[in-house]
Amino acid sequence: QGPERWEMLNEVAEEYAFAHRPEQAYAALQEHLQGLLKSQEEAHRAGLTLDQAMAEADRERGRRLAGERFTQRAITAAVAAAALAGAFAAGLVVRSARRHARELAALNAQLQETAVTDALTGLHNRRHLLACIDTHVAAADRSHGNPGPAAGSPVDLLFFLIDLDHFKRINDGHGHAAGDAVLVQAADRFKRLLRREDELIRWGGEEFLLLTRGTPRHKAAALAERLRKAVVQQPFELPDGQRLNVSCSIGFAPYPLGQGGWQAAVDLADQALYRAKARGRNGWCGVLHLKQAGNRLE
Ligand code: GH3
Ligand code: MG
Ligand code: MG
Repeated sequence: QGPERWEMLNEVAEEYAFAHRPEQAYAALQEHLQGLLKSQEEAHRAGLTLDQAMAEADRERGRRLAGERFTQRAITAAVAAAALAGAFAAGLVVRSARRHARELAALNAQLQETAVTDALTGLHNRRHLLACIDTHVAAADRSHGNPGPAAGSPVDLLFFLIDLDHFKRINDGHGHAAGDAVLVQAADRFKRLLRREDELIRWGGEEFLLLTRGTPRHKAAALAERLRKAVVQQPFELPDGQRLNVSCSIGFAPYPLGQGGWQAAVDLADQALYRAKARGRNGWCGVLHLKQAGNRLE
């Protein structure tokens, strides 16, 4: 009970936040805040009591029931005590309010990050891509609209859709936990190939989207091959210690491409992925140019 409990709740809230349990974190933080408010009220009440003591001392003096000096000293002491209590309470409240603002800001940032992060792989999710894609597209548009020596070479966005092959068989044959382990390891392998400006997204169940921002489109096939090799070159480790060979299929497309927006590039990457699957999996297929006739794959 009391101040120790409220202080402890603050730490409990931090631990919940750290454990990605925002609702419990909020509940603990709320109780912590209520505790602080209560202590603020108590301090306030203590101040009023001192006021009343001072009034009483005044009355005493008026009635001349006590010696003048004694009353004066009592008043001075009461004023000093009130000032001290007030200053202490105010300091306490200001400090805790500041700390609160910091905690809430940190918690908020953590919640926002949680909302755009995939819990299994730690990669960003679709929501993250939707939040940042407009900025990336605008940068690519600017660089393609301003060719010339001063602008440098145009920036391509490349969208790679990577889908693990026959993933359902892994779940069916080795259990869901084995499937999860493969997803986590695949994400780690892809991460190692990333540049800082790239975005790696868990796009769906066993499908990843890689968006590169500094790779020219003529290097897309080489990168697709590196991604494929990262999956096949060494077996995956399952929770029961078994090792399992896994492969993936990849489709890619660049932006800008014709008149289409970035979603059109993702659609083309998806069509290319299906073509790679149809060709026997464990391979890649990409779109680099459009034929005049429309969105035909080339
Ligand atoms: P293909 O080579 O054509 O891509 O076949 P596939 O079996 O990989 O594809 P399919 O879409 O038939 O199956 C995907 C499976 O992925 C089905 C689904 O249960 C599983 N899956 C989706 N998300 C998760 C996950 O988070 N963990 C696990 N273990 N499995 C998942
Ligand atoms: Mg698959
Ligand atoms: Mg799939």
